[in-house]
Amino acid sequence: MSRGFRNADETQSMSDKAVAEQIERIIDRGREDVAAVDGRCNDCGGPIGAERLEALPSATRCVACQAAWEQRAGR
Ligand SMILES: [Zn+2]
Repeated sequence: MSRGFRNADETQSMSDKAVAEQIERIIDRGREDVAAVDGRCNDCGGPIGAERLEALPSATRCVACQAAWEQRAGR
């Protein structure tokens, strides 16, 4: 009986590892330009705004953070 439990644990940890590796691959792939999640600013987490996203679907920051970022970047 205990052997059965042990095998189940090993199978579970193996699939956990596989899932973790898959997630890491997805994160690696998207690291360069991460699209805003649910229309939220990547900097402050606030809403980017539907109008802004419509005008610029690739926007990853709200207007305020984008302006601050552009100032930091010296543009
Ligand atoms: Zn923001």
